[in-house]
Amino acid sequence: MPERLGTEELLALDRQHVWHPYGPMPGRQAPLVVDSASGVRLRLAEPAEGRSELVDGMSSWWSAIHGYNHPVLNAAAHRQLERMSHVMFGGLTHEPAVRLAARLVEITPEPLSHVFLADSGSVSVEVAVKMCLQYWRSRGRPAKQRLLTWRGGYHGDTWHPMSVCDPDGGMHELWSGLLPRQVFADAPPPGFEKGLDETYADRLRQLVARHAQELAAVVVEPVVQGAGGMRFHSPGYLRVLREACDEHDVLLVFDEIATGFGRTGELFAAEHAGVGPDVMCVGKALTGGYLTLAATLCSSEVAEGISSGEMPALAHGPTFMGNPLASAVAGASTELLLAQDWRREVNRIEAGLRAGLSGAARLPGVREVRVLGAIGVVQLDHEVDIAAATRAAVREGVWLRPFRDLIYTMPPYVTGDGDLSRVCAAVCAAAKAG
Ligand SMILES: *Cc1c(COP(=O)(O)O)cnc(C)c1O
Repeated sequence: MPERLGTEELLALDRQHVWHPYGPMPGRQAPLVVDSASGVRLRLAEPAEGRSELVDGMSSWWSAIHGYNHPVLNAAAHRQLERMSHVMFGGLTHEPAVRLAARLVEITPEPLSHVFLADSGSVSVEVAVKMCLQYWRSRGRPAKQRLLTWRGGYHGDTWHPMSVCDPDGGMHELWSGLLPRQVFADAPPPGFEKGLDETYADRLRQLVARHAQELAAVVVEPVVQGAGGMRFHSPGYLRVLREACDEHDVLLVFDEIATGFGRTGELFAAEHAGVGPDVMCVGKALTGGYLTLAATLCSSEVAEGISSGEMPALAHGPTFMGNPLASAVAGASTELLLAQDWRREVNRIEAGLRAGLSGAARLPGVREVRVLGAIGVVQLDHEVDIAAATRAAVREGVWLRPFRDLIYTMPPYVTGDGDLSRVCAAVCAAAKAG
C-alpha cells in the first residue's frame, strides 16, 4: 500500500472492508474523509459541497467538549506516552488511574465512592448491571435480577444495555427471546420545566412496588434521553425513582454517559434533581473525546455487599482496564473543564441555540424545537432524509449527523458565537432539506 492513500482509493477500501456504525456492509453512502481536526473544525481530505472545513456540531457524539487538537490534552497524552501508554491493571496500579478515580469520586454525587474503569460506555453499563445483580445475590436475594427502565432510553449496544434500550427501536424485535426481558414504564412525560405529572409518577411508583421482589435495579438516563430520542424530562421523576427505590429495596443506576461533564448545565444531570444514584456510569466526554474510556461508580453499600458475598469479588476485568494513556487524558480533560467557568460557556451556548433555532419552529415539517444546556434539537414530523439533510448542513459548512426524525446538535463548549450561529443556520437548513 502507498504511504498515503488518495481519497478515492481510501473510500474504495473503506467500502470494501470497513464497517461503520449502524450500517450495512458495504455501506450505502460514502462517508466524508477527515484529514485532521483542530478547535471546532474538521478538515476534509477533499472538499464536499464546496467546503474543505466543517464546524463540528456533534462533538463527535457528545465527547469532544474542548474541541480537537487541544494543547493541554495533547500535552497530557505526550507526557503519558513518554512514560507508558499501557500496563495491565491486575496486580499493578498507576498514578493516572488513581488520580482520575479519586477526582471522579470528588465531583460526582454522594454516595458514589468507588470506581471501576471500563473501556467503553456499553461495557460500563454491563458492569453496572453486574454490580447490581451480584449485590443482591450476595445479600441472599438472588431472585432480584430484572431491571426496570422507562421507554425511550438508550444505554449502549451490548447485551444488557440493549435490553434496557427503547423496546420500539427494532433491536428488541430482532432479538426477542434472547434479550433479558426487563420491566418497562412509559417514557417520562416530556419537558424539563414541566411540573410533575402526578398520574405518571404514581404509575412509576406502583410499577417499582409491584416488581420489587424481582428487581435488582432501576436504570435510567437522568433528565436527557439521548440516542433514544433526544427528549428532556422533569428532574422530579428522578426524585420519585429515588424514593421508590429506597422504599422497595431496589438499586438506582444513572447512566450519565451522554449527560455528564456539564452538557445539561449541571456538571452531572443528577444534580438537577439533587439526588444521588447507587451506581453511575460516565463515558463519552470523560476523555474530552480523545480516547475510549468509561467508568462505573458505586456506593460503599454496593461495594461492601458484593465483596462480602458467596463470591467476594467483582468478576470483571477488561484487558485495557484503567488504560494509563486514556486515564491521563481523562484527568487532564476533567481538570481543564473544572478550571474554567464551564457553566458560563454552556449557558452561553444554550442562549445561542435558543436564539438560533427558534425560527425552525415555524418551518413546515417541524414538530418541535427544544434546547437544554448545550443541546439543541429540531424534531420533524417525519423521518429525516439523512443524505439530503447532511448535504444541506455541509453546504452551510457544518457537520451534523441526524437520525430518525431528529436534527440535533451538541457543539463543543469552546464553540464561538459566530460558529454557533453557523451551526444553528445549518440545523435550520437541514430541517428544510430533510
Ligand atoms: C453512548 C451511550 C452509551 C454507550 O456508550 P459507548 O461508548 O458507545 O459504548 C450508553 N449510554 C448512553 C446514555 C450513551 O449516550
